[in-house]
Amino acid sequence: MSTNRERAHRQSARATVLRAIATRERRSHLSAPRVPTVGIDIGGTKVMAGVVDADGTILERVRTETPHKSKSPKVVEDTIAELVLDLSDRHDVHAVGIGAAGWVDADRSRVLFAPHLAWRNEPLRDALAARLVVPIMVDNDANTAAWGEWRFGAGRGADHLVMITLGTGIGGGILEAGRVKRGSFGVAGEFGHMQVVPGGHRCPCGNRGCWEQYSSGNALVREARELAAADSPVAHHILARVGGQIGDITGPLITQLARDGDAMCVELLEDIGRWLGVGIANLAAALDPARFVIGGGVSEADDLLIGPAREAFRRHLTGRGYRPEAQIVRARLGADAGMVGAADLARLVARRFRRANRRRAERAHRSGFELRLAPRGRAARSS
Ligand SMILES: [Zn+2]
Repeated sequence: MSTNRERAHRQSARATVLRAIATRERRSHLSAPRVPTVGIDIGGTKVMAGVVDADGTILERVRTETPHKSKSPKVVEDTIAELVLDLSDRHDVHAVGIGAAGWVDADRSRVLFAPHLAWRNEPLRDALAARLVVPIMVDNDANTAAWGEWRFGAGRGADHLVMITLGTGIGGGILEAGRVKRGSFGVAGEFGHMQVVPGGHRCPCGNRGCWEQYSSGNALVREARELAAADSPVAHHILARVGGQIGDITGPLITQLARDGDAMCVELLEDIGRWLGVGIANLAAALDPARFVIGGGVSEADDLLIGPAREAFRRHLTGRGYRPEAQIVRARLGADAGMVGAADLARLVARRFRRANRRRAERAHRSGFELRLAPRGRAARSS
């Protein structure tokens, strides 16, 4: 009996938290304080941090390498804290938003899993809030990118939009009526692992035939290297460019050669684009957004990728000819989308935060060595 009651209590407590988050978002960017905040994008190779104003302008940015995943979660926290304290030397920082490649739970306090980091069920928000003495917002990096593009980039005016980032894999973010859809458990939008080819290419996620095995930077490079390894005549040009070193074939090189008219590279981008369009048609069937925004490194190929995607989308869209068609557009904020979006989402939790608090943060920063060694939570009390 008591277990049931406890469970019911826990569930209602969780519902309260989720309602509070929803209310805060409904309060929306329109009523959020127009103050500068810091956005942080934690990727697989680098951590970018920037001070961003209420119009999405980046006032200053700093970056550093992502700590290797063998390092403890605290090392990553240290990295974030250092970047924020560095920026707050020169700016009033009223909140910090973090976009992380990984799964963030529904009340956005914990990172459940991050493939490039040692985070496993890591209480990131509270740990950083205690150290930095400003409100912290944590979200998935594709969600923050979707938000950034919606507010300041290619998604403006489309309150129902889906963001697809084509990098090494596929990231996804969903906005509905101007709110990020995170699902019950916070992990909605993992489009890259929808199965599109039964029994297809093996994916590191453990399954076969995932979408990102056919439409991503990795897929592009894999196909080019396979053609090169097979010594196909169509690959002779790219092989000459890398001096026969198949391992040196990269996504940016393929894009560049495609722009110069290399037939194989154009064809490979068409393939990636066609698979992109097929997946987008599936997403349109499920979500019916007004616009799809395509970001990530592969989107640099622009029309060489998005043209074929549009064609395939039209061919595969369910009910085609009898429904309005969603637009497919290239993202506009480039690699900054995640950082700018994280900063803007952070304004929803921002408080006017000046002198006194800032001095506390600075004092903590000056005693940095002790702060970094102090166990979690002590930093806030000792400052
Ligand atoms: Zn997969």
